[in-house]
Amino acid sequence: MKIFVVNAGSSSLKYQLIDMDNEQVLAKGLCERIGVTGAISHKAADGREYKAETPMPTHSEAFEAVVYAMVNSKAKVIDSFDEIAAIGHRIVQGGAIFKGSCLVNDKVLSDISDLGAMAPLHNPAHVLAIKACIKTFGDKIPQVVVFDTSFHQTMPAKAYMYALPYEYYEKYGVRKYGAHGTSHRFVSDRVAVLENKDKKDLKIITCHLGNGCSITAIKDGKCIDTSMGFTPLDGFMMGTRSGTIDPSALTYIAEKENLSAADINNICNKKSGMLGISGVSNDNRDIAAAAESGNERAKLATDMQRYQILKFVGQYIAAMNGVDAIAFTGGIGENDPELREYVCENLAFLGVKIDKDLNKLRGKEVKISTDESGVDIFVIPTNEELAIARDTLEIVSKL
Ligand code: ADP
Repeated sequence: MKIFVVNAGSSSLKYQLIDMDNEQVLAKGLCERIGVTGAISHKAADGREYKAETPMPTHSEAFEAVVYAMVNSKAKVIDSFDEIAAIGHRIVQGGAIFKGSCLVNDKVLSDISDLGAMAPLHNPAHVLAIKACIKTFGDKIPQVVVFDTSFHQTMPAKAYMYALPYEYYEKYGVRKYGAHGTSHRFVSDRVAVLENKDKKDLKIITCHLGNGCSITAIKDGKCIDTSMGFTPLDGFMMGTRSGTIDPSALTYIAEKENLSAADINNICNKKSGMLGISGVSNDNRDIAAAAESGNERAKLATDMQRYQILKFVGQYIAAMNGVDAIAFTGGIGENDPELREYVCENLAFLGVKIDKDLNKLRGKEVKISTDESGVDIFVIPTNEELAIARDTLEIVSKL
């Protein structure tokens, strides 16, 4: 059975075709500059490639280009889209409405659209993509939506509420929703498999460290707290995002520089974090190179990032009254041995011991702690597309 996984933005569309009989990716690709010009790059699992520039005024033309790439191009992987059992969509914001993945229907579409106020860059684009799929493929291919937020819906109110006047929660739903939930779920499921234990019997901390970063505490198989908040700006510093800061610092800067709320939002989301401190780049590889050659601000950004990550891990160990396993994932989590070593060395008081040779491995699923370690430490490459495909398959198999 083949599942088509879609991750749509307002001007881009990433996709994978996964054969669920062996969970292998058959093809993956990207449509870019939707609404402006239009380009597709598509790659089959055997390395054949198809690239084209073709007009994509809307997501519908992008899907038509994907169909051509998959069915007719020199990198074709199927004979017809009839081979596709279902389509699974990544959705950024599910608010408090969506506690799990579900089939698309009119009500689901209008709820995702209404939640757009909390994810203006993402949810409207998801709705456009789903509607374009219905236009391109008709309604004979079932569509499933999988939310970045739903894994975090098990958080208790004491974790998700902000200490603001209660009316803002009641009127506008201002509370913590979290993000990267599909990744935290996938990685914590893998931890349980690698531990050969029921997830319900484990206290797990998952660190998703990429351009966006979040850390989640999972106890009794459920998320009990997570670092991202009302939006993915909260938590600790990321590539270009500030993470948590004193809101008074922002009102002070706004007054001094005569900035609007939108300006402040833009600064905190796009000009802060590793980029804002280092002045070099948002990419950890560039910052590491700059720090190596003596750039003090790059070194400071690196020190801040590691320290903030360590503090979140520490908070969650306290929140769960202990921890059995900590897992690192995402571009940084999977590829930065020094960051992992820093966190683990500062958890030596819990008996954490890592094997320095195993910790040097990059991008591989591996337990980096020794057998004597008081806590098991893992590196687990995330696979959000596979998690979406699995949910999609599970839902459509019941139809
Ligand atoms: P996104 O959140 O956009 O999916 P990624 O998970 O790809 O981002 O993470 C991007 C980050 O991962 C960048 O800071 C990058 O420097 C870092 N990264 C990716 N590959 C490596 C690598 N081989 N070595 C060190 N850092 C890496």
